[in-house]
Amino acid sequence: MTAVSAFLTQHEGILRSAVFFGLLILFLALERARPRRLQHVSARHFVSNLAFGVLNAMVLRLALPGGLVLLAIWFQGTYPNAGLMAWLDLPLAVEFLTCLVLLDLLLYWQHRLFHQIDFFWKLHSAHHGDRNLNVSSGVRFHPGEALISLIIKAGAVLALGAPAAAIILFEVLLNAASLFNHANWSLGRLDGILQKVIVTPDMHRLHHSRLESESRKNYGFFFSGWDTLFGSYKKQPDTPHKDIALGLDDMPKDGFAATLLRPFKAPASKS
Ligand SMILES: [Zn+2]
Ligand SMILES: [Zn+2]
Repeated sequence: MTAVSAFLTQHEGILRSAVFFGLLILFLALERARPRRLQHVSARHFVSNLAFGVLNAMVLRLALPGGLVLLAIWFQGTYPNAGLMAWLDLPLAVEFLTCLVLLDLLLYWQHRLFHQIDFFWKLHSAHHGDRNLNVSSGVRFHPGEALISLIIKAGAVLALGAPAAAIILFEVLLNAASLFNHANWSLGRLDGILQKVIVTPDMHRLHHSRLESESRKNYGFFFSGWDTLFGSYKKQPDTPHKDIALGLDDMPKDGFAATLLRPFKAPASKS
């Protein structure tokens, strides 16, 4: 396990890039081969979504150079006996798993808060404004949301005293899950089976419905059990997946600049 930790820490950049671009290409191919919904995603729309990913990567690097991983390394080096993990003193593999589960739980509640607090919703609505959910929607987040999420995650890294390698694994997993969940591809019957353990494209698509009774469901990022546990799970949408109305009624234009500036202009309707 120590060798795995060393490998993850030494090859973080290449690992994250390889997983991201590998999965982007894979899901683009699957969207063509097995589309869940018939929809046309223009090149402009696709590039606009990816531009959010690029912008967020730059903003986060400026806000916290070295990212959460360097923060974890610094914290463990400076305060080796601080944080929940030092207190629990678990075997490394169990420590990794515990960190992944707790961080995923944190993101579940962060997502719920982004729907419930008006200011947060203005930012999160940039993600929900996408009317053509596809793999590129997985990186379409307002930089304001990305920054708030970074602060919350940084707090969690310190509170947990999480090992740097666990943070790398979590971030790789999170990015992979986001691409997987937003891709417009059909897993057939496997979707329902996987949904018992992890969040799937069908499960997350329901969360992007224009109906508030559906967008206030299925908040999970990776493990689907949080929605079941906290009463926010909805298995089937009211209309078939191919007909769900996605996006937001009050966001007719979902281009890059309009979406970026929108939180600072008109009040966003709640979802
Ligand atoms: Zn949401
Ligand atoms: Zn989403």
